[in-house]
Amino acid sequence: MKLCFSGNDYKYELEGVMKLFIPATLFDIVYGDEIPKDGDFAFVRVRQLGHHALLYVLCSYNGRRAHKVCTAQKQDDYELCLSRLLFKAMSSLTGNTPKWGVITGIRPVKQVNRYLSRNMNESEIFDAMRRDYLCSREKCDIALKTAYAQKAVLDGLKDNSFSLYVSIPFCPTRCSYCSFVSQSVEQCLGQIPEYLDNLCKEMEYTAKLVSRLGLVLDTVYFGGGTPTTLEADQLERLMKTIANSFDLSQLREYTVEAGRPDTITKQKLEAIKRNGCTRVSINPQTLSDSVLEKIGRKHTTEQFFKAYELAREVGFDSINTDIIAGLPSDTPESFAYTVDKLIQLGAENITVHTLSIKRAARLNRDREEGLLENPADKMVGYATKRLLESGYVPYYLYRQKNMLENLENIGWSKPGKESLYNVYIMEEVQTILAVGAGGSTKLVDTKNKRLERVFNYKFPLEYNRHFELMLEKKKETEDFYAHKE
Ligand code: SF4
Repeated sequence: MKLCFSGNDYKYELEGVMKLFIPATLFDIVYGDEIPKDGDFAFVRVRQLGHHALLYVLCSYNGRRAHKVCTAQKQDDYELCLSRLLFKAMSSLTGNTPKWGVITGIRPVKQVNRYLSRNMNESEIFDAMRRDYLCSREKCDIALKTAYAQKAVLDGLKDNSFSLYVSIPFCPTRCSYCSFVSQSVEQCLGQIPEYLDNLCKEMEYTAKLVSRLGLVLDTVYFGGGTPTTLEADQLERLMKTIANSFDLSQLREYTVEAGRPDTITKQKLEAIKRNGCTRVSINPQTLSDSVLEKIGRKHTTEQFFKAYELAREVGFDSINTDIIAGLPSDTPESFAYTVDKLIQLGAENITVHTLSIKRAARLNRDREEGLLENPADKMVGYATKRLLESGYVPYYLYRQKNMLENLENIGWSKPGKESLYNVYIMEEVQTILAVGAGGSTKLVDTKNKRLERVFNYKFPLEYNRHFELMLEKKKETEDFYAHKE
């Protein structure tokens, strides 16, 4: 499909709008004043007329055409005005009205927070989200509730605090939809001892660095991969290294992603609990065995229930469970069962992801055309309704490109059980220092609106091989703080 620009070049934003209607499409970008004579296209023109501009959009799709027009005074408004025109034209041609409207690049909660900071009330915010972004009331309500739930978490944030992310990029086997830097243990068993040695060294190095900088450790997060792929004594060694090198006196949260239920044993749970872990994530993704099999996730629902029970037995009172809407072969009924069962179990956090189209495509290579019939929207709608009526609050929300139905990932929580780390990383308000392969350090200076990233080597092999070089790169953290007032 052609995407034609005349008198403007808002390619990035408008391509995003087009993908809301025809996802996973490659656009042929054309510049010039000529309107294509045939085929599918979107023609976007800005014509300056004295003090204002005439904005015009013409779309041709599947043999039908629609055009929209408006005027705008300020150049800063052109992009958003054109997005709305394009959205309306494509909506009339496809009969589809994505609920987040034209919010593609920005995070909805951030926008709601901007409105709140201007002392706007709820109804003014609903109106503004509708007017500016064509966002539905339903989605705006979720963004607003998320902003409220985050407020308490954000209010408790100290200026000189940081979180530590520990990357364990190993899994027992690789799930077919995985987009993380993760390797199956069978593939890289031999690399693990050296990896753990280096990881401990990197932790000690980082502890010295933060002590020089006067930073206070606020939360710890073990992610991956699946950290519980490691043995109990290996996990214990890593956690002891943290306890012996960092000052944990002000630590408020310590999460270990247990992730795959088939990696969880009582011994491992006891080891992490003994060493300070306060929150675990045990992720069923779905409570349908046939769907689990379809997505190549090699565990059963029974293993999930057992792992969950074990975590309670060991004393964990904060458990997160991740699920995914839109998995191939899943149905609204079996998804509803998953949601209901987790609510019944009383998980403190339930995170509802939506499968990204890229991943869905990988799973559906042979029947990609079926993607748009995916009932993800219905599933997310059901989860939202049930979680709200069961007393959960949405506390973080993010959207990725190419989500099925332009949907979102939402972290739901029982009030007061919100994960601090998840809010801080999502809202980019706290420095996250990452250790391990695939880790990405995020340096944040909210006062001066500075954000920098420092990347570790992606895979364990290169991490081990270039370890000393990588430690050198960590000096960037000191440089960043040297420029912070
Ligand atoms: S458990 Fe998670 S990180 Fe590991 S392969 Fe599966 S999806 Fe990827």
